Amino acid sequence: MSNVSAIHPDPDPHTEKERAAEKPFKYSADEFADIQILRYRVPGWDSLSLRQKEYIYHLGEAAKWGRDILFDQNFKYNLRIRKVLEKIIEEYREDKNSENYRDFLIYAKRVFFSNGIHHHYAEDKFIPGCDRAYFKSLMVSTGQEALCEELLPVIYDPHLYPCRRYTGGDKELLTASSVNFYQGGVTREEADAFYARMENSADPSPLSYGLNSKLIKKDGVLKEEVWKTGGLYGKSIEKIVEHLEAASKVAENESQKEYIANLTEYYRTGDLKIWDRYNIAWVQDQESQVDFINGFIETYNDPLGRKGTWEANVNFKDPEASRRTQIISSHAQWFEDHSPIDPQFKKKKVKGVSAKVINVVCLGGDCYPATPIGINLPNADWIRKKYGSKSVTIANITDAYDKALQESPRSMLTEFSWDENEIALIKRYGTLTSNLHTDLHECLGHGSGQLLSGVSPNSLGEYSSAIEEARADLFALYYLADSKLTELGVLPDRNAYKAEYMNFIRNGIFTQFSRIELGKSNTEAHMQDRKLIAQWCYEQGRAENVIEKKIRDGKTYFVINDFGRLRTLFGRLLREIQRIKSEGDYRAGKSLIDTYAVHIDPILHKEVKERFEALHLKPYKGFINPDIVPVADPADGHITDYEIIYRNDYLGQMLHYGRHYSI
Ligand code: ZN
Repeated sequence: MSNVSAIHPDPDPHTEKERAAEKPFKYSADEFADIQILRYRVPGWDSLSLRQKEYIYHLGEAAKWGRDILFDQNFKYNLRIRKVLEKIIEEYREDKNSENYRDFLIYAKRVFFSNGIHHHYAEDKFIPGCDRAYFKSLMVSTGQEALCEELLPVIYDPHLYPCRRYTGGDKELLTASSVNFYQGGVTREEADAFYARMENSADPSPLSYGLNSKLIKKDGVLKEEVWKTGGLYGKSIEKIVEHLEAASKVAENESQKEYIANLTEYYRTGDLKIWDRYNIAWVQDQESQVDFINGFIETYNDPLGRKGTWEANVNFKDPEASRRTQIISSHAQWFEDHSPIDPQFKKKKVKGVSAKVINVVCLGGDCYPATPIGINLPNADWIRKKYGSKSVTIANITDAYDKALQESPRSMLTEFSWDENEIALIKRYGTLTSNLHTDLHECLGHGSGQLLSGVSPNSLGEYSSAIEEARADLFALYYLADSKLTELGVLPDRNAYKAEYMNFIRNGIFTQFSRIELGKSNTEAHMQDRKLIAQWCYEQGRAENVIEKKIRDGKTYFVINDFGRLRTLFGRLLREIQRIKSEGDYRAGKSLIDTYAVHIDPILHKEVKERFEALHLKPYKGFINPDIVPVADPADGHITDYEIIYRNDYLGQMLHYGRHYSI
């Protein structure tokens, strides 16, 4: 692999080793339009063996080789437009400081970000800020005049290809969509009929028909063009297969070798039976430290929900988080025995679960630069029912979101915190205690307690989700302040928990409503759970001023005056909510939710919306991948290590990928 810095000097590249020792890692790297670009760290890299690193390296190469597939799937002109943009950026030699050029560059960055000319989330076409004549002059001066007539209308005409996936009602669904899954004027009716002939509703293990092909109409006849080596996208898929096979040679175990063999056979044949076989083998591997996703997977870009968009990600288990959840889970009985709930509702024998937490090393295809923060696959229902699914959270991505928020000078934290002490404590411990809250909630909270015999688990009806989430949150909040956690070595400081208490109360009673439209009430279960807890504690502790509502310069703040009393209140509410659940007391559950969780104070609601909007936070975020770079012994050239090098040049990485991972 060539060195990026040779092409695009990167002022601040760092290896993971260097990082640990020095100044704080900077998470935010770039901003344009409605987008913020971040970097993510890869903790635990140096604890991997050389063989594991080599395995990851090849999986990472396989993840990057699908980029062109995605551009083409999103829209048939995307690849050609991207190449035009790349050529201009690399070859244009005139004034690069003009406003016009800056607008052009923003457009290019947006196209790279969205893997096409339609917004990655809203799916509508965005148009360059510089005018068409200027754009044309850029193309002409870089020798691309011949393409102007065809491409400029595609880029500039708002009536041409206005949306990637059409969601309106009055036009034909497929022909009005620009997404490149259907060709030749195939209509929804024709596509549905085409696949209805293949499907059999009585089949207990149905194939995902249409997942890996484009449907084409020619001379009135429909036929599929399959994505496989020798077929559509064949050259890119060959590269993917090549790197998957190189990875297989250094896999951690036989199970990985088996499913990689299935995956490459599927890429070669396009046979969906083999795709299912691959998924079954993959989902049953719960032991490997390194894992990956690579294929045509999610179907939400297709108006008919059938065609898989290419995506990839390479990851390994987070050693620190795994240690934490293991420790907590192995003490599950202690937590159950010491919980403040009525003894008759306690489980005599409780088993904690170890949550699976991973860190990504490489994002690719539809997971790059914007990525989900969790994985829950495979998608085929019958495989999920019969063999289960893998559900994991991605720790280093969540961490990067958190840290980037704290870096920003105009963050939620500084806007809504009362003073410097609060901000300092949250900066120091906020991420750790929020992760620990999640661990306690997931590994112990939901699994604790028991129903009285004869009580139906459904007796709380429409209130059951909010009550159940509140129960798990209260369990976590109560124990966060327990000395047991410092004793077990999962919290370094007896005061660290205060960071999560401040965040939780402020969010539950106030800031979370920035996401709800004015005039609406609070209806989502998790948001109700948080409001219930924060509001109940605020009111129950009012006489002792446990949580104080303060106003300064016309702005409202919620400040915790007595952390010890607040913990006692959490314990009291946990006790009551466990009783409600264990006895199936519908009326009491309803009363708690109705009284504390649903209503939003309209004055506070208006204030939080206004203050939030004034922060002008970028609503969308994406990531630069770190490079995984082989280190060779200068004497004989054999590889002695693979280093993680953090890049902070978003545009540089985009151009590098465009040049090196393109056919
Ligand atoms: Zn939950």
